[in-house]
Amino acid sequence: MKDEIDIPVQKEEDFAAANIRRDNYSRIRDIQAMEFNAAIASRLQSEGENIIKCEKCGKEFSTDISEKDIMKCPECR
Ligand SMILES: [Zn+2]
Repeated sequence: MKDEIDIPVQKEEDFAAANIRRDNYSRIRDIQAMEFNAAIASRLQSEGENIIKCEKCGKEFSTDISEKDIMKCPECR
């Protein structure tokens, strides 16, 4: 009697678990694709933003400083 009840429940759980696994798999793939795109976007953005042309000597230099009003290279500051 106990087995007759347990078997359908077990099958239902397997079905639900399979659905959850499938959902998780596609969600993980979506997240990985999003993170990959975000990493590329932020890398391109930071490369573009952190190269500054010195307003005094015209030399291009990179900086970690995110402030955009710093327009002089370290030598001219
Ligand atoms: Zn300079």
